[in-house]
Amino acid sequence: MNLILLGPPGAGKGTQAKRLQDRFGIAQISTGDMLRAEVAAASAVGREAKAVMEAGHLVSDDIIIRMLEARIGRPDCAKGFILDGFPRTVPQAVALDGLLARMGLRLDAVIELAVDDAALVERIAGRFTCAACGAGYHDRFKPTKLADTCDVCGGHAFTRRADDNRATVTARLAAYHRQTAPILPHYAAQGVLHQVDGMAPMDAVATAIQAVLDGHGQGCA
Ligand code: ADP
Ligand code: ADP
Ligand code: ZN
Repeated sequence: MNLILLGPPGAGKGTQAKRLQDRFGIAQISTGDMLRAEVAAASAVGREAKAVMEAGHLVSDDIIIRMLEARIGRPDCAKGFILDGFPRTVPQAVALDGLLARMGLRLDAVIELAVDDAALVERIAGRFTCAACGAGYHDRFKPTKLADTCDVCGGHAFTRRADDNRATVTARLAAYHRQTAPILPHYAAQGVLHQVDGMAPMDAVATAIQAVLDGHGQGCA
């Protein structure tokens, strides 16, 4: 099964992608996580991407497309993948169409998580991640069960993203509306686009996604 999760920053793409990965054994491919790993490693790509990401702008299509092509060819994608944060521009969507055609693959569904801009700021400002296992949390919406202890691995160190601050969020939302939202009609035209209410609680969003995958979701082509 090959899926795309689309939506503005903080919409819940990573949260839902992780659940789908656990449930179906398909690979979560987060271009944001891949870029953050490059930045942490101070690689050539990371050095180029760092300032762009901190400003809340999009990294160049060339870099992203090359990274994605290499990633999708890896063995853990054999059963399928969930793209989280890619594509983010029309050229990326077009490049993905070509790549999938060459690989003889098709998209089963593109799921748009729709969330109001006002809610996103709070989602992003409260987001934090376990430094050891990458489990995602939220100060208000998904706190750890025990204070300062990861529910999954028991770790005590947590990280917050450099770009998860109010000033950068505004730029990231603007980038979403200007550069990413225009790919929605691209997928509507292919008949694979489904919209899910991302304002609902996490479990309800997961149920709605499952309904789409079972063929009962609302199409919006
Ligand atoms: P969010 O969780 O807010 O949706 P991501 O982790 O997906 O953010 O991405 C963080 C940053 O990494 C983006 O603001 C952008 O600078 C860069 N980035 C990630 N994916 C892409 C992409 N497909 N194209 C261009 N830039 C990207
Ligand atoms: P994205 O990958 O789209 O940027 P995340 O999955 O990282 O978004 O979610 C952003 C933050 O909001 C995280 O702290 C997460 O725990 C929280 N969150 C995710 N989905 C929901 C939801 N449906 N309701 C409330 N908070 C949520
Ligand atoms: Zn952990």
